[in-house]
Amino acid sequence: RRGLVWLRNDLRIQDNTALYRAAKGCAQVAAIFIACPQTWRSHDEGDPVVAFRLVCLRELQQSLAERHIPLYFLELQKFAQVPRAMTQIVEKLDVDALFANAEYPLDEQRRDSDVREALKKIDVPVEYCTDRTLLPPGAVRTGSGDAYKVFTPFKRAFIEQCGGTDFAPLPQPRGMAEDQSWPNWIEVQGAHNLVQTIPEQLPGFQPVPEKNGELLGWRPGEKAAAKRLRQFREDIDGYEDERDFPAIDATSRLSPYLNSGAISIRQCVHMALSLNDGRWTGGSDGISCWLSELIWREFYTHLLVAFPRLCMHKPFKEETDKVPWSYDEAKFRRWCDGETGVPIVDAAMRQLNQTGWMHNRLRMVVASFLSKNLLIDWRWGERYFMQHLLDADFAANNGGWQWAASTGTDAAPYFRVFNPYSQSKKFDRHGEFIREFVPELRELDDDKIHCPPPMENYPPPICDVGESRKHAIAVFADLK
Ligand code: FAD
Repeated sequence: RRGLVWLRNDLRIQDNTALYRAAKGCAQVAAIFIACPQTWRSHDEGDPVVAFRLVCLRELQQSLAERHIPLYFLELQKFAQVPRAMTQIVEKLDVDALFANAEYPLDEQRRDSDVREALKKIDVPVEYCTDRTLLPPGAVRTGSGDAYKVFTPFKRAFIEQCGGTDFAPLPQPRGMAEDQSWPNWIEVQGAHNLVQTIPEQLPGFQPVPEKNGELLGWRPGEKAAAKRLRQFREDIDGYEDERDFPAIDATSRLSPYLNSGAISIRQCVHMALSLNDGRWTGGSDGISCWLSELIWREFYTHLLVAFPRLCMHKPFKEETDKVPWSYDEAKFRRWCDGETGVPIVDAAMRQLNQTGWMHNRLRMVVASFLSKNLLIDWRWGERYFMQHLLDADFAANNGGWQWAASTGTDAAPYFRVFNPYSQSKKFDRHGEFIREFVPELRELDDDKIHCPPPMENYPPPICDVGESRKHAIAVFADLK
């Protein structure tokens, strides 16, 4: 039996469910990756995330080759072209079964069901595996069979379904079968534009310079991800106490790896549970707090599947579409560029622009600032994050933005607007983070750096934080 593994955002060989299933069930295995730059662009995928993915793919191709599994690369334009191309490839390669890990945004689901239908016509089964989440979306339901809309009860039910405090029923990380050769793979070369050379970047995307094997300071790939997880294992106990301080490197920084699939959610969960006697809650505060964040990731993905309108640029709370959002391009640009005159907001946006990542506390601060103080449509911010984050994940990003803009389910209440100055004083007390990213303010002392006096080389604040807060609250209150 010949199995073809269709790789997407699951770029690893360890604990890759689809790869594992293919290797178990088929004597011969090959892998394929299909790039669809036009669709990716329309989904606001950015240059960094695409470049990161391609480097991960190159490393993966090497690891697969060591196991004699060839990886082919195919460039199309759009998802709509995939079913036909896949049918031709499957026929040409005489494949008996196709394996892939399920993806959950709506267009990806549609693409996958079209591929399944197309291959049904030629009698080739397709297996979509649960891999990106611990439990398949839809599996965690209330007593009346509905999807959970609130995090805390979701979390409780989720843990219970994973087997409560019992470690055993959790999906175990899987190894990889060795040496699954496809003896005559050379024949395949040249078939339907399949190539084995993975490009540096795709048409329509700008190159991202690689420096010492790193992109924007991040080393792509499965090996770097595993190393990061090992390092974080040493620090995890301090997570709860230190995770809110952007100047401290206290969070895992695994998000770009989880997003590209260079590491699996099971590998992360198992690391944490094994240090905590198999307990999700209790035990080490650092560990249970981190596990809770991983459940937020799960929650947002489950929500996406239960409420497809989230994939259609709609707010969860429909009435919030009546907010008279601003579309002030000049102000939006200042926010993007980190030139708002509010130091913590500017430092955060510059961190995003320079490193492709932003600390979670600051994501909440800048999202609240854009959607409440500037009252700019949260979808503009969501889009900018998608284009610039290395961890850009539709579910988590949409969830985070709708939380901050008070348009989501279980979101921040509309009357609780973050004050960027108090956040700055509380979480970057000595201004270390601000000094790192806003060099203009480096010389200011600790009590001036959060709200600087008029300066020549730094803009005055883009808005009055107190007045704009009152206005936003009034606008939301009017919706009631
Ligand atoms: P850690 O604190 O070490 O957490 C471990 C992992 O848990 C993360 O890698 C992530 O996979 C998951 N996680 C943590 N917090 C959340 C959360 N609130 N929601 C969902 N998953 C979470 N996360 C993304 O992965 N992609 C995004 O595009 C994204 N956009 C966001 C936008 C906004 C406006 C906000 C407020 C949050 C967003 N987050 C997003 C969630 C969170 O900020 C990042 O996951 C986190 O900062 C990544 O850093 P880390 O890996 O060090 O996280």
